[in-house]
Amino acid sequence: EWAKDWTQEIRYLKKMEQYRREFIDNVSHELKTPIFNMQGYLYTLADGGLEDEMIRDKYLQRAIDNVERIAEIVQELNQISKFESSAVELEMQPFDIQELAQEVVESMEISAEKKQIDLRFKDTAKKPYIVQADREMIRQVLVNLVSNSIKYGRPKGHTLIGFYDLDQNVLIEISDTGKGIAQEHLPRLFERFYRVDKGRSRHEGGTGLGLSIVKHIVEAHQQTINVRSRLGVGSTFGFTLAKYKG
Ligand code: ADP
Repeated sequence: EWAKDWTQEIRYLKKMEQYRREFIDNVSHELKTPIFNMQGYLYTLADGGLEDEMIRDKYLQRAIDNVERIAEIVQELNQISKFESSAVELEMQPFDIQELAQEVVESMEISAEKKQIDLRFKDTAKKPYIVQADREMIRQVLVNLVSNSIKYGRPKGHTLIGFYDLDQNVLIEISDTGKGIAQEHLPRLFERFYRVDKGRSRHEGGTGLGLSIVKHIVEAHQQTINVRSRLGVGSTFGFTLAKYKG
């Protein structure tokens, strides 16, 4: 009996060790490119590049862009690590989820317009939904999901946000008319650094950490997040929140 337990235990530890190794691999890989880029720009500046005003401004800006990317990756990793060690305290409060979604949509209208993507609300809800949750964290969830719907959306398409009454909970769905995600990717989509199209995601400034943070936030609220998608048609991300009970 105990021999069987040990075999299981060893298998589990090996798996964890493999995850740990993959994680370090991913982190160093993600940081390598912006660090090398930044080095290149700074060396060129130090090596006489400062004398030419055009080169100076351009290279300084590129160095800044790359250091900002590094800062973003480190900040997101830090947030994930806090969630994984359960060191995150939620500031639960009642608020109107549709009002928050409206705020988020307004803040993203400029990037949506650039791709001529229409951000709209589905008329699923005429009544207000007051939820009990951490407002700032739920804002982050909405920002991530709506910005993905723009990033991976088809130009001239639209993003629909809907709210559905589930008795104790509210379901919030964000649907896009993007390129969709093949079924085989769906089970791994919420993993750290997982990307369907690496080149495209990096090009669009993605870190591959956004959905992992989104899932952590929703699960810290004891709620669930799901995705369904059809290639060439679009994707729908849905998560639940608890209604505020007076
Ligand atoms: P990223 O920073 O790369 O956007 P995310 O964690 O937010 O990272 O998303 C992980 C991957 O899931 C993305 O790289 C992309 O391939 C895919 N993805 C996320 N949202 C969508 C969407 N709405 N439509 C199509 N693909 C998506």
